[in-house]
Amino acid sequence: MASDPYDIVVIGGGHNGLVCAFYCACAGLRVVVLERRSIVGGAAVTEEFAPGFRNSTASYTVSLLHPKIIAEMGLAAQGLTTVQRRMQNFLPLNEREYLAVGRGRTKGEVAKFSRADAERLDAFNARLGALADMVRELLLVTPPKAIETGWIDAVPELLKAAGVARRLSRLDTVAKRDLLALFGQSAGEWLDSWFESDPIKAALGFDAIVGNYASPYGPGTGYVLLHHGIGEVNGIKGAWGHAVGGMGAITKTMAAACKDSGVEIRTGAEVREVLVEEGRAAGVITAAGETFRARAVAANVNPKLLFLSLVDTSLLPADFLDRMRRYRCASGTFRMNVALAELPRFSCLPEPGDHLTAGIVIAPSLGYMDRAYSDARGQGWSKTPIVEILVPSFVDQSLAPEGKHVASLFCQHTAPELPDGSSWDAHREEVADLMIETVDRYAPGFKASVMARSILSPLDLERTFGLVGGDIMHGSLALDQLFSARPVLGHGNYRSPIPGLYMCGAGTHPGGGVSGIPGHNAAREIVKDVPRRSTADTIANIFPGSR
Ligand SMILES: Cc1cc2nc3c(=O)[nH]c(=O)nc-3n(C[C@H](O)[C@H](O)[C@H](O)COP(=O)(O)OP(=O)(O)OC[C@H]3O[C@@H](n4cnc5c(N)ncnc54)[C@H](O)[C@@H]3O)c2cc1C
Repeated sequence: MASDPYDIVVIGGGHNGLVCAFYCACAGLRVVVLERRSIVGGAAVTEEFAPGFRNSTASYTVSLLHPKIIAEMGLAAQGLTTVQRRMQNFLPLNEREYLAVGRGRTKGEVAKFSRADAERLDAFNARLGALADMVRELLLVTPPKAIETGWIDAVPELLKAAGVARRLSRLDTVAKRDLLALFGQSAGEWLDSWFESDPIKAALGFDAIVGNYASPYGPGTGYVLLHHGIGEVNGIKGAWGHAVGGMGAITKTMAAACKDSGVEIRTGAEVREVLVEEGRAAGVITAAGETFRARAVAANVNPKLLFLSLVDTSLLPADFLDRMRRYRCASGTFRMNVALAELPRFSCLPEPGDHLTAGIVIAPSLGYMDRAYSDARGQGWSKTPIVEILVPSFVDQSLAPEGKHVASLFCQHTAPELPDGSSWDAHREEVADLMIETVDRYAPGFKASVMARSILSPLDLERTFGLVGGDIMHGSLALDQLFSARPVLGHGNYRSPIPGLYMCGAGTHPGGGVSGIPGHNAAREIVKDVPRRSTADTIANIFPGSR
């Protein structure tokens, strides 16, 4: 059975697929989104995981969502509210000590461990902030293609590259040196060169390994640290917050904006194959055998999944295919939600307070994180794992019955594939117990307060969301998989080797996180290539302020 032709078929209704669909529809294109699951939102969804207890299923905290997209999609008007954390991070260190990080308090807190570190903090923040601003400027840019065959194609790409170079040249000498150091060194080396005390290095270094299966002393971790600092909440740069109703509130409002713009959304519609005719993408065929013909196809799925499973690999250039096979997907993520009879009471700060609005990080030093990584490489996971805990019901009563709570456990450094070749299915419960016991060591009584739990091992993340290797970013944010090289050098501009087939998910610039930027940028390229039905609006009107 074939339906009417569309202009654009979007494979996957993750938040980037929705953003891409929205902007394409605003340009007058007829768009359909096909989502495999029964709900849209991809890794940004809220679901009930135990009777009466709801929580963000996968991604759990907001910062990267671009303000331009929030404004242009009218997400606030659709009902999206984000609240800031009253404390950014809280690191319980032992029974007595902790580090609290957040506006106005970090310096005093760091001074508990090192006065010298406290004094260096302002300079550190200013210099990291300058680099974050530079990266922010590149977020809405389509990366130059970097590889060209003829001079006619090369000229616009050179101009784009010159634009990027101009931005870099505006950095002062100190910032240029910092940029080189941060990209060239590991986050651990960079932080060791600034600070002497463990807690502040751990608080900052956590951002370098979150969603990144690496030691903080691994190459490329400096960029990941920066990546987690480029967002904002309600205008406060670098802050993280909570979307009221959970992350699903973001994608619910995005879906509403899409529908208002004329996008058709189909759930339970798994795409089995991209249809290619006369060398061009011509639509898709679903697992149910339905054909959706279109003038272009935008894939929101991990590029590895797209090119190795949904496209006839014989249509791809040999080197591209080879690179895709070697595209690295691993974030080392194990994710749990727990229903709680009461709030956690940390030995070092037992009474409820601002720390329960924070990202509570169990990882007291860079050495702890380094060991967690090497244990995972050797045995699949560490007996002393890294766990970030959030208690969203403390600020959002809509998630749990009165007097009860929900917590997100974001556990880091579980091997995507177990070294002994066994399946995650054989170890899911055992590792979930370990994660709960780890929290219980810092917050006695936590284990006893757990009324129900849901667990996503790396394998479950792949099965549920199509996240290859359980990679939350759709591919490691390694230096050779960024910007013009995301996912592969020569295809960083959202266009695949097959004309008419575009990539619009986190496997493209600027990578993972609930930012909406890949979807936004991809739509801008699609709209340039696919003739619009209505040309009343110029591209500059549809994408104001972006390049
Ligand atoms: C456990 C976890 C925690 C995270 N925490 C955070 C966080 O706190 N903050 C943050 O900013 N980011 C976080 N992230 C990262 C962020 O959620 C992702 O990078 C982001 O959601 C990627 O969005 P996307 O739209 O590109 O892809 P996805 O969200 O992966 O969406 C892709 C969609 O494609 C669908 N699909 C797959 N195959 C097919 C097919 N064959 N046919 C049709 N549809 C298909 C999937 O079902 C899915 O809905 C987290 C991710 C995970 C998994």
